[in-house]
Amino acid sequence: MIELSGRSVCGGVTFGKISIFSRNGRTVKRTHIQSAEEEIGRFLSARDSAVSELEVLYEKARVEIGEAQAQIFAIHQMMLEDEDYNDSVKNIISAQMVNAETAVLATSDNFARMFSETEDAYMQERAADVKDVSDRVINILSGGGETKIVTEQTIIVADDLAPSETIQMDKEKILAFVMENGSSTSHTAILARSMNIPALIGTKGVLNPEFNGKAAAVDGYNGKIYIEPDEKTAEMLKKKKQEKELQRELLKKLKDKPTVTKRGRKINLYANIGTPEDLGSVLLNDAEGIGLFRSEFLYLKSDDFPSEDVQFQAYRRVAEAMGDKPVIIRTLDIGADKKIGYFNIAEEENPAMGMRAIRICLERPTIFKTQLRAILRASAFGNIMIMLPMITSVDEVERSKTLIDEVKSELENSGIPYNRSIEVGIMIETPAAAVISDLLAEKVDFFSIGTNDLTQYVLAMDRQNSGISAMLDTHHEAILRLIKTVVDNSHKKGIWTGICGELGADIELLPRFIELGIDELSVSPSRILEIRSAVRESE
Ligand code: PEP
Ligand code: MG
Repeated sequence: MIELSGRSVCGGVTFGKISIFSRNGRTVKRTHIQSAEEEIGRFLSARDSAVSELEVLYEKARVEIGEAQAQIFAIHQMMLEDEDYNDSVKNIISAQMVNAETAVLATSDNFARMFSETEDAYMQERAADVKDVSDRVINILSGGGETKIVTEQTIIVADDLAPSETIQMDKEKILAFVMENGSSTSHTAILARSMNIPALIGTKGVLNPEFNGKAAAVDGYNGKIYIEPDEKTAEMLKKKKQEKELQRELLKKLKDKPTVTKRGRKINLYANIGTPEDLGSVLLNDAEGIGLFRSEFLYLKSDDFPSEDVQFQAYRRVAEAMGDKPVIIRTLDIGADKKIGYFNIAEEENPAMGMRAIRICLERPTIFKTQLRAILRASAFGNIMIMLPMITSVDEVERSKTLIDEVKSELENSGIPYNRSIEVGIMIETPAAAVISDLLAEKVDFFSIGTNDLTQYVLAMDRQNSGISAMLDTHHEAILRLIKTVVDNSHKKGIWTGICGELGADIELLPRFIELGIDELSVSPSRILEIRSAVRESE
């Protein structure tokens, strides 16, 4: 038995044969042409066929997995219709008098390099997309058919998969995805999650031709693949699979049930989301609200500042979908690991302690006010609350509230509806905020503890540094004492405190949180029912 480890992108246990995904393996031959005009015509016709193929894929994805996930094929169509892309191919053909395949390949490489050299994670991921669409055109130019389609039920092993390759596979036939590389935020990972298929990324050594056709077991819960598993491992995994299936079935019974402890204490159980696309999972898992909408993802997905209207539509969609349930929109929290090129923030020695979140918003009020206007306009369509990140002082809260009031007056003067009594809360994620939470509690309507940042700042341990992650004690008594201080100070002033950092989903700490008086937990949507179950079993 060979055991390899990767990172889990989607949970689940599965057994089956490995199928190493191979592309057609076509190589592009550079040839000289006589007529640039004819060759450009050949390129344009192949490009149009590729756009039509993508239209079919878009429809297939839309029906099978939903509009949000299908969007990637609309993006691919747009890439093929992009003027710069087309001009580049045509220029290479005319200037070098080479065949269209060579020109498309060169354009693809140039664009992919350009994307991967940007600092923006979203744009970096577009490198794979531009290669994917270009391969499609090259395939058509060289007379190839559609990309290979999987025909039997297998564990797909690949270096990485392009979204179009993933979607063309018949999902009934895929037992798992195991990728040697890949990133957890790539569209392929997102598609795997939405298909609910166990998936691993970063599984070094798995792309070994000798494994092709061999029996294997994938444990998506702890990121492992076992090639030719021995009997003991297979038994252990079968048991785990049965247990997890049983658990999932039992958890479904908790939908529509209240999240209350045995003694009748209510905990508000909300979900963390990044974009409106996460709503499906929020509703499916019966979250009681959105406790953290990381609004910066709207900015990260965009190659320029998202307009007020784009933001308004996104916030309104979430607010309307949630009805009267709370939707807590955290204002822009960029900086540190979330870098966005178009903000042009100077390079920093220590960005986690640098220009980020509320600091940027207060320095650049035009950007902040655009977002606040979008949020306030959307507040007319649901139960929206505003949450300010990375607060360290009363002054920051007061200055933010002044800007909120300014935007309110502007809306008032223009007769645009908004919720006049919208609640404003803050994240408690710096040691300073926790220590002065008595003073801050006088200024806001609620607190939500961001334990991810609070832990890194209290322990002086960078949350991004994998080298020290084993030392980072998330249960450190210092954090628990600060949580107690914050909860006590909030209750004294009659406001509530929740936890929206990852610690909020820590079942082991749940009894302690309940004892400390935590009012709300906001966790990733897939954890909702599990936490509800644990709360209902607590005293
Ligand atoms: C946190 O810091 O705990 C938090 C919820 O915010 P983020 O992880 O987005 O920094
Ligand atoms: Mg944070």
